[in-house]
Amino acid sequence: MSNYNVLIVEDSPTMRQLIVFALKRIRGLTIVEAGDGVDGLKKLSATKFDMILTDINMPIMDGLKLVSLVRSDPNYAAVPIVIITTEGASEDKERAIALGANAYITKPIQTTQILDVTRRLLNLPA
Ligand SMILES: [Mg+2]
Repeated sequence: MSNYNVLIVEDSPTMRQLIVFALKRIRGLTIVEAGDGVDGLKKLSATKFDMILTDINMPIMDGLKLVSLVRSDPNYAAVPIVIITTEGASEDKERAIALGANAYITKPIQTTQILDVTRRLLNLPA
């Protein structure tokens, strides 16, 4: 069975729980949670992750800063990054994509949205 490490960086515990719940429907994923960008970076340096989902608006370090730091790390130059934005925040979306994010999902988060993007970026069957 394939195993992928997925990091979720999101300051809202409710939102994290929702994302974890959705991702548990895909077998073979090990899910790690971080509450902000600094916590996320700490976890990225401790384990090799295969995909990162990150919120944009977070205390301490936001998602845009995290995306730019992740992309400047040779270990993570190519790891898929999905950003989580609020509806209408098209500027954040564009900035994140310009900084190297691969895809975005929009709040309110739908389970199918998370599953589709994760399967696509990890090349998993639907
Ligand atoms: Mg937030």
